[in-house]
Amino acid sequence: MTKEIDQRVAAQIKASEKFLVVSHVRPDADAGGSVLGLGLALKNAGKTVQMVLADGGEKFHYLPGWEAILEMPSGAADMIIVVDCSDPDRVGSVLADYGKPHLVVDHHKTNLAFGELNVVEPEQVATAAILFDHLPSWGLSIDADIATCLLAGIVGDTIGFRTPNVDAELMRKAAVLMDLGGDLSKIYNEELVMRSFIATRYWGAGLARLEYEQSLVWTSLTLADKDEIGYPSDDDADLVNVLSAVREAKIALIFVEQPNNSVKVSWRTGPEFDVSGIAYQFGGGGHAAAAGADIEGTLADVKRRVLRETRKLLANNTH
Ligand code: AMP
Ligand code: MN
Ligand code: MN
Repeated sequence: MTKEIDQRVAAQIKASEKFLVVSHVRPDADAGGSVLGLGLALKNAGKTVQMVLADGGEKFHYLPGWEAILEMPSGAADMIIVVDCSDPDRVGSVLADYGKPHLVVDHHKTNLAFGELNVVEPEQVATAAILFDHLPSWGLSIDADIATCLLAGIVGDTIGFRTPNVDAELMRKAAVLMDLGGDLSKIYNEELVMRSFIATRYWGAGLARLEYEQSLVWTSLTLADKDEIGYPSDDDADLVNVLSAVREAKIALIFVEQPNNSVKVSWRTGPEFDVSGIAYQFGGGGHAAAAGADIEGTLADVKRRVLRETRKLLANNTH
């Protein structure tokens, strides 16, 4: 039985010709995989589609269709779809000349339902998994390329099927995506294992000043590290997922200094804590086990404020 919202989405897709499919800044594999998976499905249905990521698509060079990703959209659109994004600010400036999105597809528990239609399912591990469930009822089919993109989103947000929200049903979805032609081994390695030499040296800078205190592990990456090593992006090269391997720690944090007097903070934790609330409190968002925020201030100042609040969260949970 198709739900009413699926019928409305299907009708709007059918009636529209020109699409914008957009996700969040500093895109992860769920953002890239969902933009590509939905974008390619719409193209296969004969639609004109602009797939847009403010930071471009280069990072997703291992996924089919990445070359078509634009940094800015142009011209009119009949239907604007935002995927894997909890609030309009996270889209960056790419939708500045456009109105409210017609459809938001997301799984963040902090989602603000900022679309005209909102398919928001916080119990899902990835936006790509939501798309897997809904695409057929929207009149869109999943070919081998789309399956690879959706599998990439699932592998990314579950860090290779390692998060506590992975269950047998998700593995069955992944198996269907493999049956459809999804290339698990390639995307797993590209996303989670392979790193450039420069990114690995950048990790080294962060690991060299790793700190631990009472169940918290954290480090920072500075603009000076980035310059010295020649790391080209403003992200942490996924170092936070390395920190979350520290056995003694219940919460791992990383502070990445940004050029505009702000700091990108990421939290990671296990099943017994929920770090989404603290990220939200600092103007960010995310999931129980993985959350982030862009916080104004110097590295030292943001570190002090965030560590203080995170310690409170730990104290409230420990009996
Ligand atoms: P990250 O720490 O950037 O890997 O992000 C972890 C999770 O939190 C992802 O699901 C992100 O989409 C979400 N997130 C990160 N930064 C923000 C932010 N500034 N606002 C809202 N959500 C965020
Ligand atoms: Mn994402
Ligand atoms: Mn996601």
